[in-house]
Amino acid sequence: MKRICVYCGANAGSSPAYLEAAKNCGAALAAHGIGVVYGGGNIGLMGAVADGALAAGGDVIGVIPHHLADKELAHEGASQMIRVDTMHERKHRMAELCDGFLILPGGIGTLEEMFEVFTWLQLGLHHKPIGLLNVAAFYDPLLTFLDSMVAAAFLRREHRDMLLVETELEALLPRMTSFEAPVLGKWWDKG
Ligand code: AMP
Repeated sequence: MKRICVYCGANAGSSPAYLEAAKNCGAALAAHGIGVVYGGGNIGLMGAVADGALAAGGDVIGVIPHHLADKELAHEGASQMIRVDTMHERKHRMAELCDGFLILPGGIGTLEEMFEVFTWLQLGLHHKPIGLLNVAAFYDPLLTFLDSMVAAAFLRREHRDMLLVETELEALLPRMTSFEAPVLGKWWDKG
């Protein structure tokens, strides 16, 4: 994988473990020679991922809409900052530039971004791996909810299992690298 798109919080979160994990992720991706694509801010976990990667000599591409460049404080040190007009364009460019997606803790923006690429994978619109790093059990309730969706027959087990989940990046990266999107059947039934 040449580049990974990282989705994560514009906030730092309540525990220092989140910031530390984000910084370490940036550094680890750089150490693996994998470039980072992200939302371009220098705030919260987003800034920490970029800082970690840049400090380790990594390549960092930010994609930020004009209207957020001031609010989210576009990172001054990024290798490249792509400015776009809309949130949709941002997500489109980020998805286009990367070979896989990495999800760290975050808020509704992070979830929206993750579920969009997860949905696109289910629809077969892309075949890139989606890795979720479950830092400090942050995503446990969400993973339980996904299992409830499977139990309630709104989500197929094979689709649920396409989301790669680990607590350590070093365990997640090889799973992402070897990911092959399964040939999926339909995701609905007639009821
Ligand atoms: P959050 O997880 O809520 O802290 O948001 C993380 C990042 O997602 C921030 O850079 C937000 O600007 C971005 N974001 C939130 N909603 C969207 C959206 N609909 N499209 C693109 N980016 C978004």
